[in-house]
Amino acid sequence: MSYVDEVLEQVKKKNADQPEFLQAVTEVLDSLRPVIDANEELYRKNAILERITEPDRQIMFRVPWVDDNGQVQVNRGFRVQFNNAIGPYKGGLRLHPSVNLSIIKFLGFEQIFKNSLTTLPIGGGKGGSDFDPKGKSDREIMAFCQSFMTELSKYIGADVDVPAGDIGTGAREIGFMFGQYKRIQGTFEGVLTGKGLTWGGSLARTQATGYGLLYLTNALLKDHNIDIAGKTCAVSGSGNVAIYAIEKAQQLGAKPVTCSDSTGWIYDPEGIDVELLKEVKEVKRARLTEYAAARPSAEYHEKKNGEHGVWQYKVDLALPCATQNELDLEDAKMLVANGVLSVTEGANMPTTLDATKYLQENGVLFVGGKAANAGGVATSALEMSQNSERLSWTFEEVDGKLKNIMETIYANISDAAKRYGVEGDYVAGANIAGFEKVVDAMLAQGVC
Ligand code: GLU
Repeated sequence: MSYVDEVLEQVKKKNADQPEFLQAVTEVLDSLRPVIDANEELYRKNAILERITEPDRQIMFRVPWVDDNGQVQVNRGFRVQFNNAIGPYKGGLRLHPSVNLSIIKFLGFEQIFKNSLTTLPIGGGKGGSDFDPKGKSDREIMAFCQSFMTELSKYIGADVDVPAGDIGTGAREIGFMFGQYKRIQGTFEGVLTGKGLTWGGSLARTQATGYGLLYLTNALLKDHNIDIAGKTCAVSGSGNVAIYAIEKAQQLGAKPVTCSDSTGWIYDPEGIDVELLKEVKEVKRARLTEYAAARPSAEYHEKKNGEHGVWQYKVDLALPCATQNELDLEDAKMLVANGVLSVTEGANMPTTLDATKYLQENGVLFVGGKAANAGGVATSALEMSQNSERLSWTFEEVDGKLKNIMETIYANISDAAKRYGVEGDYVAGANIAGFEKVVDAMLAQGVC
């Protein structure tokens, strides 16, 4: 049996109850076969695959907090520190009722390769809680964040592990968590990224994941002699990634016509009004029904099981920016039938494995989240650099570096795919390019 198959079997046995983690490991190890086969003896002797699929540590803890009725609530907190071969652990904190160990491990595992691709020195980690921020008051959010950080603060630090935002964790939550860390540790340090601009945050961090997604998509299309201007796009999600993907797509001359949230989606053939979307989502924290109510050209559709949602429309570019496994095989078939040119992932693992395969086999340009959404964490690393030198850079400087990083990522994944004889397979290219750097560091650092 090949080394990859042996390790896949072991990982499946050890983590049988973790479907999302197994999905992520299967995708990565499968696509690494050409590299592993070429170095099988060295990697096997050093147990590289066994080590890279087992987190350095996984921390789980109780998060008790008091709600507005005086009732004590208990949530479960997580931080998985996966791999720090190339830098301190780095990755977001997801607050969503679906969060469990499998989801945090899949995200932490992906983060190793994504962070390596950024070209910056950051390792892989992820955390979060099954806390549901929806409908909570500001005081309840603060109570939760303070309790969560009281425990998490024991395990993180500017040179150890630097968490950030993800689904459910934005500027408000990072603020409450930063304040609590400072009280407990007594140090003002860059322990979190996505901070406010008056206390160590970086300009362009808010926009970075969405902007970065479009910089990469543009580089991909250019390489295939396709002009992004005039192209229509289907975007899913309406959070931080989707909003700034829509904004940058418009700046590049493209026309996003959809967005979605957990209860429904918008189809707006005139093009999404991004200022209105920001008002509804960032200021009012309201549902998309409010967007539709204020915009005559927009249709609102309630989400029902088995429907294609935003993937049913005839568009040139698909930008899944919501959450894992939101684009399945049936959606992929619909997109292909409608002549989609590219699918580039703003979310983490939004496309199922069979859908990815179908898109690739049908000539759709496909770039997975590890490369396509790396702009967020890359800009987090730029925030860390600014904190270390106690300076802040201008918007143009950070945005310019981000654009450069995304174009470099595209060049690197494209080159890695070519080197291993799978030209145009950007999933394999991303995994290979991310893996090579981490393995080099792991081998240099000995058994640890
Ligand atoms: N949550 C984002 C991601 O999935 C950003 C993480 C960070 O900035 O550390 O990459």
